[in-house]
Amino acid sequence: MAMISKILIANRGEIALRVLRACKELGIATVAVHSTADSDAMHVRLADESVCIGPPPSRESYLNIHQIVAACEITGADAVHPGYGFLSENAKFADILEAHGITFIGPTAEHIRLMGDKITAKKTAEELGIPVVPGSDGEVKPENALKVAREIGFPVLIKATAGGGGRGMKVARTEEDLEHAVATARSEAAAAFGNDAVYMEKFLGKPRHIEIQIVGDGEGNAIHLGERDCSLQRRHQKVWEEANSPALNVEQRMKIGQVCADAMKKMKYRGAGTIEFLYEDGEFYFIEMNTRLQVEHPITEAITGIDLVHEQIRVASGAGLSVKQEDVVFSGHAIECRINAEDPRTFVPSPGTITHFHAPGGLGVRVDSGAYQGYRIPPYYDSLIGKLIVHGRTRVECMMRLRRVLDEFVIDGIKTTLPLFQDLINNQDIANGDYDIHWLEHHLAATS
Ligand code: ADP
Repeated sequence: MAMISKILIANRGEIALRVLRACKELGIATVAVHSTADSDAMHVRLADESVCIGPPPSRESYLNIHQIVAACEITGADAVHPGYGFLSENAKFADILEAHGITFIGPTAEHIRLMGDKITAKKTAEELGIPVVPGSDGEVKPENALKVAREIGFPVLIKATAGGGGRGMKVARTEEDLEHAVATARSEAAAAFGNDAVYMEKFLGKPRHIEIQIVGDGEGNAIHLGERDCSLQRRHQKVWEEANSPALNVEQRMKIGQVCADAMKKMKYRGAGTIEFLYEDGEFYFIEMNTRLQVEHPITEAITGIDLVHEQIRVASGAGLSVKQEDVVFSGHAIECRINAEDPRTFVPSPGTITHFHAPGGLGVRVDSGAYQGYRIPPYYDSLIGKLIVHGRTRVECMMRLRRVLDEFVIDGIKTTLPLFQDLINNQDIANGDYDIHWLEHHLAATS
């Protein structure tokens, strides 16, 4: 591992800007890469250098490994930050960069592979002492699905071993549902991931989604930075996240956090990662690990004051973590709202030109967004255009601040999900922190 002096940011949108900011603070030169659809993106304007890597479709630009490696060679970048999505969990990409003597800011290719396959991830988690959801022992073939499901007990969930973004996931509530659920999960998985392998889990009825942020130095030292509650989801996509979880007390937090940190020490994990759990009746059940920075990482930064991208860059360059577990102080409460260019009721994407943009400000307010007045949102990529992160000393203060901030935020010319948050901030269940992973879908169905 070597000193890093120039980082190529292999991503776009708000996360490219987020990474760029960290590089600037550390005095590291930056290279932006972009498709022809993103020439006027904010992070491209702010980067020290930029390279166009292809036409709008992602597979010809942001997923084009050859073009990205070529851009590193042209600019002399000695490291790549992959952000989230795109190539961030692509083990082959990490291997190729290493073969070219370029540092991948993330875990080893081996760890990416291990956690990228959900069956091996679950086995590894179990071996490392992390509690997992009861389920099949590895892959389930259609011919033995019924036997496995009876052992687990209905309802069961069929999941794609290569899964991501909630695709290839089907519930079977009864024996009658099973054949169809397995077949559709397999065909969805084949279409989305080119791999039709599925496995089976007990379907939990009313869990919360709680995930633990960890960071390791790759040498056997690792810490946890507490949890995020991401239960408010629509179609398995997170919409609103908070830290800490309204459902956990300090003892529960420190206990599960320590289990995760210990597991990462044993694994000698390097970089930032997230261990995702479903939480029901006081028990945690591992579902997957993400070996990258997550969209919702800023709420953890808000309550700990630790810059996760700084830590990623530190450990990638061999400088180690900047903090010890005993120095991590959890302070106050933070909420993130994902602002998508979508209709707030139908969630149909709404690309177009932003005619007016005014970001809110004030104490405890952070807006991570590459959007600006006159910016044209290209139709080729996901619809996340910004994240609003609000921090307060208590959850009540955080909610009061969020209500004020939502009134200030102006994005005109396109539809956004801001009105959804105006609705949620005035809801009694949300105020009470009383919601599970199904709450939002039920709420949307009931109020449509
Ligand atoms: P993906 O990688 O596709 O996002 P995950 O395994 O992370 O898949 O699961 C995504 C979401 O699906 C979870 O946040 C939760 O809402 C739901 N889910 C996953 N496993 C279960 C389960 N065993 N029981 C109930 N819901 C589940």
